[in-house]
Amino acid sequence: MPLSSRAAAAWVLLLCVCALPLIEIQALSPLKPPKTITASLTSAYGDVTCENQQVVVPTSTAEVAAAVRYYYSMQPASAGGPAATGGTPVKIRVVSRARGFNASDGYRQMGFHERAGFACAKGSQPGTGAVSLLMVNMRKVLSRSGATVRMQAGITLTEILRYATSQNLTVPFGAMPQYGDLTLGGTLATGAHGLGGRSNANMADIVRAITFVDGTGNITRVSRNSNVGRGLVGGLGMLGVITEVTLQLKPGSGKTRSWSPGLRSDANFAQELLQLWEKYSHISVYWRPDLKQYKATVVEGVPLSSPLHPPPVNASLPPTGGLFHPQSESIVSTAGQLIAALHSDKDSTGLFCRAFGSFLFNSESFGWVYGYKQGAGGAITPFTADNGTGFTNDMQTSECDIPGSPPGSGSCFYNPAVWERIWTKEKAAGSSRLTPSISLEEIEFALEATSLPSFIADFKLMAANMKTDVPGGCWPGGMIMLRTGFRTRDHISPQTGSAAERVMWVELGVFRPNVPLNAQQQSLKPRQQKRGAAVQQYFEQLLVCKYKARPHWGKGWSRVFTSTACPIKDLYPASNWATQLSLQQQYDPAKLFETQLLSSVLMGGAANPGGAACTSEMSCYCNADEDCGAAGLCCKAAPAVLPAVKSKLCLPC
Ligand SMILES: Cc1cc2nc3c(=O)[nH]c(=O)nc-3n(C[C@H](O)[C@H](O)[C@H](O)COP(=O)(O)OP(=O)(O)OC[C@H]3O[C@@H](n4cnc5c(N)ncnc54)[C@H](O)[C@@H]3O)c2cc1C
Repeated sequence: MPLSSRAAAAWVLLLCVCALPLIEIQALSPLKPPKTITASLTSAYGDVTCENQQVVVPTSTAEVAAAVRYYYSMQPASAGGPAATGGTPVKIRVVSRARGFNASDGYRQMGFHERAGFACAKGSQPGTGAVSLLMVNMRKVLSRSGATVRMQAGITLTEILRYATSQNLTVPFGAMPQYGDLTLGGTLATGAHGLGGRSNANMADIVRAITFVDGTGNITRVSRNSNVGRGLVGGLGMLGVITEVTLQLKPGSGKTRSWSPGLRSDANFAQELLQLWEKYSHISVYWRPDLKQYKATVVEGVPLSSPLHPPPVNASLPPTGGLFHPQSESIVSTAGQLIAALHSDKDSTGLFCRAFGSFLFNSESFGWVYGYKQGAGGAITPFTADNGTGFTNDMQTSECDIPGSPPGSGSCFYNPAVWERIWTKEKAAGSSRLTPSISLEEIEFALEATSLPSFIADFKLMAANMKTDVPGGCWPGGMIMLRTGFRTRDHISPQTGSAAERVMWVELGVFRPNVPLNAQQQSLKPRQQKRGAAVQQYFEQLLVCKYKARPHWGKGWSRVFTSTACPIKDLYPASNWATQLSLQQQYDPAKLFETQLLSSVLMGGAANPGGAACTSEMSCYCNADEDCGAAGLCCKAAPAVLPAVKSKLCLPC
């Protein structure tokens, strides 16, 4: 298309979109190929690598727009693009950050967090170009008016909280996920949530407006609750790149208190949890059906005059969120040894497995609040507890580093640098076997709250009746976590629905050792099968197939999204898809942002990839014994006493 007619087409587009409830449209810059490097981008846990991407590292909305507009101009007309002939098909995705790609200001970048591969720009057709927009340098605060703040979408939650504190503003409790090293854009695109059963429970609940670059390179600003805003939130980047977000914060400081009724028998779990939910909004629960125990934690706002608890040893160390805070590198190393042991033959009685369960339930090792105490010799040591009071900005997320340590140097359990240091010490001590690094595997679903009693009954039944490869029926390395949720009206957010239908987030989190399947293999994957893998396989299938619970877009494996047994697409009302797809047609006519994985979801699944040990890397449910990847595991149906699931499980032969 000659430039003049391209410009005319752009003006026609501009005129068309003016008719929509949009707030602002900016002028377009001339077409120019963006500066790229070719690289593979790896996620935080090292389990997703987007191979061979053309990486663009934009610093502004205008740069994102220029890059997208350039690639759009090359798309053939047959694929919805403007190029009359030829043209190179391309897919574009945002990668919030990647291992080893530090921001220009040196801010720690440990990698993106989604686990299925939605972040990878992979097309279905061979020869499709793959473009990654790496957002590490889009983390600026752009403007502030009162308590309304406009930020670039690559900013992390921790950075938002630090900024809010520095400006005497508060992020309302409940909206943010419990982990601070996630990005604003990534959490909005996946529909991420915090903690709240009545309101203020989703990241998008504090969003007023979103600026995005669509699949033609146009820049558009919409209000959060507009039809387009509802396609962007939880829309998995289908409509374009979220580049700027306006947040509504609260003026002044706030304080928040957490407390726990303590460890309880799960005999009346459903009833007790629903009663607690009647009284309180922000509730988080750890549950181990195999140990028949659960522990709830309630979080609520308290007057600003409430004293900090635990009392700070000095003003620079107030109480903070504790969930992911390691207390020391040696605790990470010890946890690694325990996790490796409980997933190995060493745990012949399930002793290590139960010990790790106790570790997770113990508020002093895995508590909600992170505080400090001063020992007799004056040494300051961190500890965790469930009961605490702190500034709301400090309490709502936790970090994976020891506070005060240089960025990236703290003891986050998934930071490769931490394991390098642990291994150096082990080698120096003459250890012949190094402790394997660990990974946390989480899968989460939005469950209709009325299903809670039945869900709880099913998993008690499972704990009692499903003999896995774990001695004594213990569930290895993890727990079920439940968090109160609140509905949105977004088209394809997992929690979309009517506010009258309450929603509970249910998650299975499993810590596993990263041990290659064969000692000789060059890469880490495939890894040795973890113990109790059938628990996870059954959990996923029961939630999707029986409970129609929708998986979190940023917390799940490819097999959950691509299994044809119970397609994820069917879990959403057809009218929601129709709205989302018509927005896609309007804003991304060449489907630049629709990758192979996303297409699989839209088509109701994909063929099971199979392959040795594919269940170990969660890319398949088993069809044959070799899919289970471990001697002694066979591909079998779940025991008849349990509610049936369509796919088979890796159970002891
Ligand atoms: C330790 C830990 C704790 C967590 N706790 C919670 C929790 O409490 N609640 C919760 O809801 N989730 C939680 N998560 C999950 C988290 O929300 C997801 O992993 C999510 O993917 C956000 O991660 P990210 O910022 O790294 O985004 P990424 O993983 O980089 O991106 C997620 C997806 O969104 C797309 N995307 C990213 N940015 C943009 C953008 N600007 N525009 C358009 N598309 C974009 C990407 O292409 C990708 O498909 C947790 C994750 C971890 C690792």
